[in-house]
Amino acid sequence: ATPTALLVGTGRGSQLGIIIRGPQALEQTRTVDTIVLDKTGTVTSGVMTVASVSTVGAATERELVGLAAAAELGSEHPVARAVVRFAREQGHAVDPAEQFLAHAGHGVQAVVDGRLVLVGRLGWLDSDWSITAPDDALARSVGAEATGSTVLGVAWDGELRGVITVRDTVKPRSAAAIRRLRELGLRPVLLTGDNAGVAAAVAAEVGIEDIHSAVTPQGKLDVIRALQASGRVVAMVGDGINDSAALAAADLGIAMGTGTDAAIAASDITVVSGDLLVVADAVRLSRRTLATIK
Ligand code: ADP
Ligand code: MG
Repeated sequence: ATPTALLVGTGRGSQLGIIIRGPQALEQTRTVDTIVLDKTGTVTSGVMTVASVSTVGAATERELVGLAAAAELGSEHPVARAVVRFAREQGHAVDPAEQFLAHAGHGVQAVVDGRLVLVGRLGWLDSDWSITAPDDALARSVGAEATGSTVLGVAWDGELRGVITVRDTVKPRSAAAIRRLRELGLRPVLLTGDNAGVAAAVAAEVGIEDIHSAVTPQGKLDVIRALQASGRVVAMVGDGINDSAALAAADLGIAMGTGTDAAIAASDITVVSGDLLVVADAVRLSRRTLATIK
């Protein structure tokens, strides 16, 4: 490889807003045949809004929103931002909680006004905290998920107190980007920690058939490894801390510059703007740069 050609490639890359870590990163783009895409913040805008709030038992809506937001204040996750923004719009002050702990791919815990507050997936509240949702709340949640909402259970003092649903929107250019990636011979796969209903709705909107939903961060890594074991050469695009292990394991890791530092550090290429169409450009540019070198 002549260093000049590589410099041309990376120089043009920086004009497009693509940061390439090194020559090895470009090498992988020639043989990549599969592109695994994280959903939240990658295919979707990642700017979520609260769609509904419902209480369980004696909790009031005001109490539920206030405590959930205080617990979520320490989290960078899009669902957390949605809850905090919503609470502020409702006039809550939202002060930092104590003993905050984030559980990647699941939810958060924190102590608010002396109460241990949990906000996260209903499945996680059940499996890790033995907090089960009453049947009617569960039924409503399944319905909300089927129509593309993400459901957050809110619990304190060991009981489910309510449910907050949030919604995200697909980025305007995602469908076009998936088409372009296909034209480059890449098979798209959607990978998300979110529920099956949301995953199916997003996949249908952008034209992806292969879906892995309700996947933990470790599970994301397993999906990459399984694809590689079946002979695929895999690119992974992601933005979250929960994507880091998968990004590092992929043959080509591509981070959204709009995402977390952890995702960027784990990747070979960063697309500064977070535009998926630029991801396709990055693959094309790298291949062309390689052709120049040969
Ligand atoms: P994705 O793969 O779509 O980026 P994550 O793996 O980050 O999603 O999260 C999976 C699920 O875990 C979310 O859809 C949400 O239900 C739950 N979750 C993650 N972080 C939080 C949080 N800070 N608060 C509440 N729930 C969370
Ligand atoms: Mg994400």
